[in-house]
Amino acid sequence: MFDTHELGRRPGAMKRLSRSVEAPGSPVLGIDGVIGVPEGAPVELDLRLESVMEGVLVTGTARATAEGECVRCLEPLTVEVDADFQEMFSYPDADDRGRSTAAEPADDAEDDEDRFFLEDGLFDLESMLRDAVVLALPMQPVCKETCAGLCSECGIRLDENPGHHHDAVDIRWAALQGLAETVQDGEKDNMGGAEPGVDEKQEK
Ligand SMILES: [Zn+2]
Ligand SMILES: [Zn+2]
Repeated sequence: MFDTHELGRRPGAMKRLSRSVEAPGSPVLGIDGVIGVPEGAPVELDLRLESVMEGVLVTGTARATAEGECVRCLEPLTVEVDADFQEMFSYPDADDRGRSTAAEPADDAEDDEDRFFLEDGLFDLESMLRDAVVLALPMQPVCKETCAGLCSECGIRLDENPGHHHDAVDIRWAALQGLAETVQDGEKDNMGGAEPGVDEKQEK
């Protein structure tokens, strides 16, 4: 939770602050089961608070180290997270003097879910931080772009075993290639006639 009391409610007032917080656990700060900042690990926050008419605009950066594993070879890896975010925290009474709540009932229902409010001059960064960190993290983390992953036959790590291969002809792979060609041919045929069913009937 961050305090905005020092900022005051005068529009235009601005305040910068830096703080180190501990990453929250359950759910982990990141993509569950893939990659995330371990619970309790430091998250460095640089924030800029700006007082505006309807609330406080928070702009910031979060830096942390996320841990996960390579999706190809399953080796542990770390990713430096550098996430930018910006969020408006409205005064709870902002609606009273701002836009009319009765004007757009349908839109307001959606808006309120995404809106954040100040509570007694305090705001909670956690959900904003979560969204920003998830966006900054790779969905498919790899130890390196060229990671060859694991051998599909025996599970050995290919990067550590250059030249590794199995001599037996892989029948499954040959079958897959044949299948891929069939699918491509099929797609071409379908694209040729817009309504093949109709054409065929007319020909007969
Ligand atoms: Zn890897
Ligand atoms: Zn192998």
